[in-house]
Amino acid sequence: MDCDERYVKDLAADDQTCNICGKMGRCIRLNAEWFSDYPYVECNLLPSRVEDDDDLDEYGNVKDELVGEEPEPFYGCLTCLSEGRFNFVHETAAGFITRDTIPNLGITKEIIDGLTRTPHYRTRRGNDYRWHCDDYMSYRGQWQPIDFIRAAKNGDGKALFSKIRSESEPGAFRYYTDNDFPDNPTDRAYWSSAVHTFVCRHCGYICAYVELD
Ligand SMILES: [Zn+2]
Ligand SMILES: [Zn+2]
Repeated sequence: MDCDERYVKDLAADDQTCNICGKMGRCIRLNAEWFSDYPYVECNLLPSRVEDDDDLDEYGNVKDELVGEEPEPFYGCLTCLSEGRFNFVHETAAGFITRDTIPNLGITKEIIDGLTRTPHYRTRRGNDYRWHCDDYMSYRGQWQPIDFIRAAKNGDGKALFSKIRSESEPGAFRYYTDNDFPDNPTDRAYWSSAVHTFVCRHCGYICAYVELD
């Protein structure tokens, strides 16, 4: 698992009984509302969202009236995740990575194991793990101005923000300009939109994108 500990704490805060190993521990809920796409969690013990054929419409899709229904919680603990008893499917610039991905020159077994044992981050859009130096980047959470200041080697968070913004693909900072970086930020919750940030695990390169409310 490679992502910010603060973020994992947020995802797996409560002690719960793991539905996979039966032990009490820090667990991630695998079928909560933000994981409504069950196929993105790989665990053969995870109960199906579909009880029987009556739940499907004529096209084989889950009937509209059942979509969004709150299922019984199903938890997987961080130990089971680190040992690969359940996995996450991740979308990356190198394609979808699942536990069944066959290692090749570009994607080593270490990358497959590391990424599929890393949880999704909270987002309403696709869970797109950024890629750099032929490897997945480490998700560092939703940054506020103060985080850019802490990450800047010379403390100039505004310059770092401006650099990341100018290097990003078009649209990553829609409606955000350099002027959206406050002069003297003290309030951690300055931006209301999520600024999802990743750091390269090899060269330290930082990239980010804004998810508008
Ligand atoms: Zn467990
Ligand atoms: Zn890099």
